[in-house]
Amino acid sequence: MRIGCHGLVWTGTYDAAGIRHAVQKTKEAGFDLIEFPLMDPFTFDVAAARAALDDYGIVATGSLGLDESTDVSSEDDAAVRAGEALLERAVDVLAELGAEHLCGIIYSAMRKYMEPATQRGVANSQAVIGRIGERARAAGIKVSVEVTNRYESNVLNTARQAREFAAATGSDNVGVHLDTYHMNIEETDMFNPVLDTAELLSYVHIGESHRGYLGTGNVDFDSFFKALHRTGYDGPVVFESFSSSVVSPDLSRMLGIWRNLWSDSDELGAHANAFIRDKLVAMASTTHH
Ligand code: MN
Repeated sequence: MRIGCHGLVWTGTYDAAGIRHAVQKTKEAGFDLIEFPLMDPFTFDVAAARAALDDYGIVATGSLGLDESTDVSSEDDAAVRAGEALLERAVDVLAELGAEHLCGIIYSAMRKYMEPATQRGVANSQAVIGRIGERARAAGIKVSVEVTNRYESNVLNTARQAREFAAATGSDNVGVHLDTYHMNIEETDMFNPVLDTAELLSYVHIGESHRGYLGTGNVDFDSFFKALHRTGYDGPVVFESFSSSVVSPDLSRMLGIWRNLWSDSDELGAHANAFIRDKLVAMASTTHH
């Protein structure tokens, strides 16, 4: 199992220098993996990322959220095509990085919708994600759809919805990505969604209820980590946190990051790495109970 950190903990600027800085800080905080924000995979500096990963000896994954012009859950064929082209490029970037996971809100735009998803839109999304799943399989990359709260997508808000969505893509290379921040808003509890997805669960985000320091909010992490242990989950476990002190123009406004919940990324990252690893060690000990 690899423990990772979302790249926006370190910087909101993803040029060559920003990429190197984020990789270095991820390694220094004790993580095994960095999740690169691939909001624009066409401009992502693959060579710089590859060199930084090699120099610091960690691996990468990639995530993104689509926007209105690339919304594969729309009924606008041009947007669906643009979204599929963007996801194809994201797969190619990750293949060049030797990465094994593409995740995030890759099945719809990442925004507050003012109407429910349509049947045709969801079918468009499932068809695209099914094809992306097969393209990614050829490169050894798993594709995971992130279950998000109602204010960030109208397509997948619960683990059970994601399970049905993944099956409907027709690709068994499409799995479910759960995020404790979103689960805390939408799910019945932090245990059952992990059991409900079980073998389909392929990616995990660890975020607090306010997206700040782990353990200072409302998320019931103990139940969540017990469930991961119970199901034998072995995929990436990635810390995600946002503060107005590190701003990504693409992401921060959409996620509503208005407050400064932390300013010392080094301390925050090291704390999260220890928090996650301590929970995993503690829950593994329950086999002796
Ligand atoms: Mn997340």
